[in-house]
Amino acid sequence: MLRLPVFTTLLGLAQATAGELHPRNVSVSPYFNAVSDFIDNIQDQIWPINQEIHENPELGWEEERAHQLLTDFMQDQEGWRVTKGVYNISTAFVAVFDGDANQAGPVVSFNAEYDALPQLGHACGHNLIASSSVAAALATAKIMQEKGLGGKVVLFGTPAEESLGGKIRMLEANVFTDHKIDVSIMAHPSTSDTPYAITSSTDRLDLEYIGKEAHASASPYEGINAQDALILAYNAISMLRQQSVSTDQIHGIITSGGSRVNVIPNLATASFQIRSNDEASLEVWTNRLMDCFEAGAIATGATLNLTMRPYGYANMVTNEVMAKSYAKWFTGVGGTLPDPVVDKLREPAGSTDQGDVSHAFPAIHPFFEIVTANGTVPVTGPHTTAFEVASGSRPAFERAMRAAKGLAGVAVDILTTDGMMDDIREEFETQNLAKRLVKSLYIQRR
Ligand SMILES: [Zn+2]
Ligand SMILES: [Zn+2]
Repeated sequence: MLRLPVFTTLLGLAQATAGELHPRNVSVSPYFNAVSDFIDNIQDQIWPINQEIHENPELGWEEERAHQLLTDFMQDQEGWRVTKGVYNISTAFVAVFDGDANQAGPVVSFNAEYDALPQLGHACGHNLIASSSVAAALATAKIMQEKGLGGKVVLFGTPAEESLGGKIRMLEANVFTDHKIDVSIMAHPSTSDTPYAITSSTDRLDLEYIGKEAHASASPYEGINAQDALILAYNAISMLRQQSVSTDQIHGIITSGGSRVNVIPNLATASFQIRSNDEASLEVWTNRLMDCFEAGAIATGATLNLTMRPYGYANMVTNEVMAKSYAKWFTGVGGTLPDPVVDKLREPAGSTDQGDVSHAFPAIHPFFEIVTANGTVPVTGPHTTAFEVASGSRPAFERAMRAAKGLAGVAVDILTTDGMMDDIREEFETQNLAKRLVKSLYIQRR
């Protein structure tokens, strides 16, 4: 059993001492120093786990080592109940800390990711996500215990975020609803700091055109050129881009297009990814692309086979009440954030399965800037070698711990502020109503 660090104060009255990692702004919350001290004290226990995950990258659904490391660590924490391999998902886990049973209170939850990318290792920095969520969950539980608060803290180990939809599978298995969570909290490393993740709704599909093989010189008129069908579709999409808005994106690669130069190809294959602002606009955009794919088939006579891959991702809907709480804590520990009005005008970039969680529960997914060992930002961003290197650095880990203070702050605010959970729920319901209205507008326009 690991011993948790002793708290110096819970009242936020302690003054800053020399050598502290981060500035102290006790006006943020009466629990500011307690959260900050706790994470400062526990981070050296989390650092080796962070490094071991980073140095041993595992692909989605195969994160056995990370799962073992994190569940072993959580089992050593006083008061936590850990379930490994939940709901037949072998690399998912749930760790629960119960508040005072005599008092009602919200269930605050954190998601820890830990999967890596093929060839690139931890180029998305999910080791830092695991570390920040573990630190934030433990800090929240400590406050809950010290203050005798009701409610629960739940830490979910959420595998397979990279294209495989781990959280969607957990949503479908009712992992989150069975634990009656009120909110979902996590953060992701990036090249800048923001409480607002603005990500696209996305789907992926594989397609193939089946044509008819024929000698390219002796009897081309007997053939049906599958490659031509694919090129036609590709060109139709290229032209469609002219009339699309910048947030409707399509990425595509041709994966095969014939094998011999003197034979009319009877098979051509491709993979595409579609992104748009939200679920409603993604549907409209997808339908327009389907017309392009069909155009290739109609023009050439080839047969089109489409396979939508399981688990497209929904856009991230950030809960404003929670984002404001994060911003207050994050700036309190010395972080700087852009003006929120300007910040929220950003166009979406990337996609995450936390988006799907955010449609089911009030959620946040702030981005936090990381730096390399020499203090530079890996400006090429996630999914690059530079980002993988930065994700293993101590300064990046310390940025993750700073973000963890912000995440814990949101949870502690929810647990200790009268009416905050009601405000969060009210906003969530308003967002759901707005989503339904947008969808009906799109349907009318079609
Ligand atoms: Zn990624
Ligand atoms: Zn990621």
